[in-house]
Amino acid sequence: MTSKTTSLNNEFSQLVADVKACRKCDRMCDSERVLGPASGSLRAKVVFIGEAPGRLGADESQIPFHGDKSGHNFESLIQQVGLSRYELFVTNAVLCNPRDSNGNNATPTATEIKNCSHFLKRQIELIDPPLVVTLGRIALNACSLIEQHDLELRTGVRTANSWLGRSLVPAYHPGQRAMLHRSFANQLSDYQFIKEQVARNGVKRKKGSGSVASRGTKELIDTITSQKSDLSYFALHKLFFMIEARALDELGARLSDSYIIRQKDGPYCVELHPQKILALNLNLSMYTRGGVLHIKRMASTSLFDEPDNISKSPFDTPALELISAVISKYGSLSDTELKRAAYCTKAMRSVLRKEKTSGLNLFNAPLLVPAIYD
Ligand code: SF4
Repeated sequence: MTSKTTSLNNEFSQLVADVKACRKCDRMCDSERVLGPASGSLRAKVVFIGEAPGRLGADESQIPFHGDKSGHNFESLIQQVGLSRYELFVTNAVLCNPRDSNGNNATPTATEIKNCSHFLKRQIELIDPPLVVTLGRIALNACSLIEQHDLELRTGVRTANSWLGRSLVPAYHPGQRAMLHRSFANQLSDYQFIKEQVARNGVKRKKGSGSVASRGTKELIDTITSQKSDLSYFALHKLFFMIEARALDELGARLSDSYIIRQKDGPYCVELHPQKILALNLNLSMYTRGGVLHIKRMASTSLFDEPDNISKSPFDTPALELISAVISKYGSLSDTELKRAAYCTKAMRSVLRKEKTSGLNLFNAPLLVPAIYD
């Protein structure tokens, strides 16, 4: 690790600690703060700013824009234009979840946005991205507190504007309410524009380090569940991770672009949220047995069940053999045994070592970063 990276990590840890200690907003004094390793890469060339963590989303998952409808929409938009969370930093105008007296999500007040604006400024200064994308009116206005601008969402959407020595692109919030004003299809065009701006602003992915399959997540879930038709949700995450870890080791590249992070009980694949799995239309259902969430394949039809299946698979023969080898070695283990096996992988051992030597908690830190983003 270079001294520049070490100092960046130290600065970020200090920022996270300052945010944790903050008690500026009365109604959010005791809330979770959504800022940490899951926010994204400190070397990101683009920072996305939303409004506030959602009650059912980031406030629960601790991953900005993940776990609720807004999160699913955001993840779908970036995925469809080929942006990976590994290359982004995602944050909010306020870092705690504002709620009304009934416990529902509320819009942050002007004072709360102002209170948190110095943290937003510190994040932007620390990451220093050439491009900032605001998601919704609140985020756009919050940026004006850092450096004044006259942009309005309705007229400024999908335009690149000079701001704070970088480019600012206003976009709509990916929540369902905002979709009434700007449809998903229109937002998809906005993200295409953002992707072009990212490329224009000099994101240089490493060459010769393998490509990332843009649709590999769905196909990998399909392949796992066609070989193991009934498994716990926990086991799916761990098998998915073990396959990816082994692919990186033995084939030199990941099989999917799924964003994998270290959570309390081991590796967690962000794209494998239950609602997102069901939305993949893979004939999978979910049920609970003994309080444990399970996934069951309802029919034997796999994406690749037709006679010319191999030609449709994004995985070549070595990849398919590797998947089968991992499932046959670990597929019958209990969840406890699987967890232990996942902790014995190189990637998890490296995180555990870092936690021990630094004394830091690396929950939500990205795992198996594809070389092109490293
Ligand atoms: S929203 Fe920001 S300013 Fe307000 S308490 Fe949370 S961290 Fe502090």
